[in-house]
Amino acid sequence: MLECIVTKFGGSSLANDEQFRKVRSILELEPTRRYLVPSAPGKRFPSDEKVTDLLYLCYELAAEGRPFEDQFIKIRERYLSIAQMLHLKVDIQKALEEVAQGIREGRTRDWCASRGEYLCGLLIADYLGWEFVDAARGVRFREDGTLDDEKTQELLSDLLKDGRPSVVPGFYGAKADGEVVTFSRGGSDITGALVARAVNADVYENWTDVSGFLMADPRIVEGPAEISSITYKELRELSHMGASVLHEDAMFPVHRAGIPTNIRNTNKPYHPGTIISKNAPNEISVPTITGIAGHKGYSVISVEKNMMNSEVGFGRSVLSVLEEYGIPFEHMPTGIDSMCVVVKSELLEEHRGEIISRLEEMVRGSGSVSVGDNMAIIATVGRGMVHNCGTAARLFSAMSRARINVRMIDQGSSELSIIVGVNDSDFEATIRAIYHEFVG
Ligand code: ASP
Repeated sequence: MLECIVTKFGGSSLANDEQFRKVRSILELEPTRRYLVPSAPGKRFPSDEKVTDLLYLCYELAAEGRPFEDQFIKIRERYLSIAQMLHLKVDIQKALEEVAQGIREGRTRDWCASRGEYLCGLLIADYLGWEFVDAARGVRFREDGTLDDEKTQELLSDLLKDGRPSVVPGFYGAKADGEVVTFSRGGSDITGALVARAVNADVYENWTDVSGFLMADPRIVEGPAEISSITYKELRELSHMGASVLHEDAMFPVHRAGIPTNIRNTNKPYHPGTIISKNAPNEISVPTITGIAGHKGYSVISVEKNMMNSEVGFGRSVLSVLEEYGIPFEHMPTGIDSMCVVVKSELLEEHRGEIISRLEEMVRGSGSVSVGDNMAIIATVGRGMVHNCGTAARLFSAMSRARINVRMIDQGSSELSIIVGVNDSDFEATIRAIYHEFVG
């Protein structure tokens, strides 16, 4: 029997009173679900507006000295209708007035945005009869705006130590002087992970509007299979390459604490979703690949220089040029007298000419520099690769049958993924070829 589950409900799961009702019945199904981290109400239908977007808009209008009330009315209406439909007692009218007043008085952008979760937290705590714990008291940011992980752990575990069922709004915290700071967009996932770690939860349930992760992007592969179990390391590779359901930074606190995350669907509460854990335990058979993800729009900077392999520090000097311009690199396949650095093309754009001249200077008379654009990178990820011979052979045969030219190959020594670079125009065909080879 599980003892303590932390739940996080995303914006679409709290978009109106009907969704609030679903949330309550999910909690009633399992009494060990004792903590809830809400997002701000999201879209009720595809063309709807998210409360957080409206709050940013109100802030911007007020900052330009323009009236924001027409936008604020929409926010007010969202919260009031939930409160009325569910017959809530909390004085949400007054709380909304304080928010409007704060916007009028020029409170910070982060403060304004954070009110979406704050107000939603007040409503859901009232609806459930649970304690409301303001995240500004438990999630601590440093002066430079980064999360103070240790202090947050100390504050949150202290605030939640009596074990009473509690609601902690997502997305924000505060500096030591009380100034509210938010995470980046989608950051309620991070709050959920921090609360799960603070109460040493058995599971962190992240409730959203999809039943977990899919093996490939459904816009590219028709009806891709669902991933029932994945490790944090695999997910890190896939989400870096674009598979997005969970905020990238939400994995670290729970991963380190050994707490599994379960992605669940509020609209299909009996679907088991995807379990993300440190090591997928007791697996009888592991599929060879877990998922495929990728991105277009990379450039390959190729540097050739005679006797490069015996020149100590040459690689560092190439990378230091990129470092000076603040450009991170994605991959770096090397040869004996050549090295390639793969970067996002959009990051290279601004200083492209200067960077190339600097590199040309370094190889003058004994080498050359060239840049190839329009490359897509695709990561095929799977903990099962380690146990299966011939995975690379199958992957490249499938690409060859689909007449796709491979521009770059990179396989980490962890044998967790195989990365291929292809022309942007071959991106979708590559994902389909790999998917059908391994999944059918
Ligand atoms: N409400 C915030 C956003 O829309 C944070 C979140 O939902 O996680 O980004």
